[in-house]
Parts: sequence; C-alpha cells; structure tokens
Amino acid sequence: MAIPLVDLKAQYRSIKDEIDAAVRDVIESAAFIGGEQVSSFEAEFAGYCGVSHAIACGNGTDALEMALKVVGVGAGDEVIMPTMTFAATAEAVVACGARPVLVDSDPFTGLMDVSKVENAITAKSRALLPVHLYGNVVDMDPLMSIAARHGLPIVEDAAQAHGACYGEKRAGSLGTIAGFSFYPGKNLGAYGDAGAVTTNDDHLAAEVRLLRDHGRVGKYVHAKIGRNSRMDALQAAILRVKLRHLDRWNEARRQRAQWYDRELASAPVQRLGVKPNVEPVYHLYVVKVRCRDAVLKVLRERGISAGIHYPAPIHLQPAYEFLGYGVGSFPVAEEIAREALSLPMYPELAESQVCAISEALCSAIRGCQGTDAL
Ligand SMILES: *Cc1c(COP(=O)(O)O)cnc(C)c1O
Repeated sequence: MAIPLVDLKAQYRSIKDEIDAAVRDVIESAAFIGGEQVSSFEAEFAGYCGVSHAIACGNGTDALEMALKVVGVGAGDEVIMPTMTFAATAEAVVACGARPVLVDSDPFTGLMDVSKVENAITAKSRALLPVHLYGNVVDMDPLMSIAARHGLPIVEDAAQAHGACYGEKRAGSLGTIAGFSFYPGKNLGAYGDAGAVTTNDDHLAAEVRLLRDHGRVGKYVHAKIGRNSRMDALQAAILRVKLRHLDRWNEARRQRAQWYDRELASAPVQRLGVKPNVEPVYHLYVVKVRCRDAVLKVLRERGISAGIHYPAPIHLQPAYEFLGYGVGSFPVAEEIAREALSLPMYPELAESQVCAISEALCSAIRGCQGTDAL
C-alpha cells in the first residue's frame, strides 16, 4: 500500500459536495477575477488570522515581494532572512532589487536562529524576513525587540504556517506585514496558484491593493507602476470552503505528529523541536537521520513517499553563488539539509499508516547503519 507525502485526493473526497457547489456558483455568476468571492475570502481570512486586512493575490512569492516593497525595500537594501527556506523567500528579496543577508538555523527548531540576527544588521538593512517553516513559528518576541531597537519592519513568510499560533496570536499577525501562499499542497491550499498579504496597517494594505492590480485607482487611472497579481474568484471560492475546515485539519495534523512522536520516541532520529509558546500546524513533520539518503531510498522502495525540505539551503544554491557564501558558512542549516527527512503528513493519514511508516523508518535506519544513525 503506497503512502504519499500529501493526499489532496482524499481531502477533496471529504468536501466534494461543498467544493463542487462553490465552483458551480462562480461559473454561473461569470465573475472570474476579483469580485464578491475574493472580497469575502479576504474578510474571512483576515478574521481568521486576527488582522484588519488580507489582500488576496496571485501566489505566495508575489505576496512576499509586494509586502517587502510596501515596507520600503528597494535597490541596494539588505533583507535579513534564514538560509534554510524555499527559494521563493530569497526571490522576493532579489525581485525588489535588494540583497538577501542570510542567517543560520536554530539547532532545536530548524527555524531562523534569532540570536544570529543582530550581528547581520548593517546600515543597509531594511527589513527582517523570518520564515515560519514546517508550520512552526519563529521565536518572535526576541526578534521583535531587535526590530524595534533598530527601527526595522518585520515581514513574515507565513507560507507554511496558516493557523499556527505564537502565544495567543496567529502567524501572519505577528510582524508588520506577512505573505501567505495557497499553493495546493499548503495547509490551506487552492486548486491552483494563489496567495495573500496580511497586515494591521491601513496604509500598507492600501499600497498592496494598488500594486496587485496595475497600480490603478480608476478603470484606466494608474497611480503606481503595479502588476497583475490578482486572485481568481474560483480560487477564492474554493479557499472559502477550505478555510472552514482548516482548524479541524490542523488539529488532525497535530494528532498525527503526536502519533509519530510516540512511535519514534526511542528511535535513533532527532525530531525538529517546537517551543512551548508555539502551537504548530505541522505543514511538514521533519526528523533528522544520519544516513538520510539511504533511508529515503528504502522508504521509497516500500511505497512511502518521504520528502526533503530542503536538500540545499539558499547559500548553496547555484543561483545564489553571487551572495559570496560557501560550504561551511551556515553549519546548522547544512546539517539539516543533509539529514532532514519529511515524513508523510496530512489530516487523512491513518494511525496504522503512521505506525507502519515509523516501523519502516526504524528498520531502514537499522539496515543502513546499525544503531549508529543518530
Ligand atoms: C510555498 C512557499 C513560498 C512561495 O509560495 P508560492 O505560492 O509557491 O509562490 C514562499 N515561502 C515558503 C517558505 C514556501 O513554502
């Protein structure tokens, strides 16, 4: 029996009637771009995140780029971000004409090591860009103190953290402004590309609204050089249906993470940690394993689709050689890149499957390295 990394077909089966009705309504209304579905989704998602504004857009990369632009990031500026993230985080910075200044990962959580941020600040720093990777949340209290001390805005990359909490507050409401992705495989995923920016700042929200729709203030009056990064009404209608199920799905992910924790308690693997004031949403369930590549191969042979997030940090990607870092620049992130293994994680995963995956993982580790694997 094959077990995928994520199972979007199982999710669709569980909400098919609601989705089909929502899609049919949009097609019958013939309002395909913007309109009531999009503005309703914006209001509902803002309410969900606990912010005053959500601005729907084309994808998560655009959301981050527009968020960076409206807080003032431009040519010659520096933006401080983790090296261990998906390439889109760095692309958004470079698209603004700015330079990513990278920091290493925290060995406990695998997220941006906040204790390394202050050292990275220079006169050119223009924003801090923490990434709530894996559905975990960056240690925001110390980061916000640093930001306040240096007068820097915080742009959250919340693309993997829909619904995750830091204390009482949700990801996307913690910094100055945030970018979300609704790529299909995310915890809240559209049936195509989509994204959103969230903020409590009225002025920044208005600026993002301008940018995403050709900078227009009237039908053919363009106040700014904007772009086309609008959300389809079909995606908005689908996201409105799925938002109603998000808390239940996130709770199911936490349950599956607990099952893995229990099954792997005595296994020679190290789980990436979560701090006590964080309620994570387990976009991914990541363990570190010494002989990762051999283990991954064995799991795949048994039909278990584990993943790697990510096999190379930004500073070792060919496109980012120009930043001037190299092997050894960020040893914690490099170790995660070598050892991280994302186990199948989705709300419909059965307990028996979690047990089978855990057993296969333990036996694969024993097979490749004896008990020396941690
Ligand atoms: C998915 C993702 C993005 C980009 O989102 P797209 O919608 O694919 O453009 C950005 N950052 C992180 C951490 C992501 O996982």
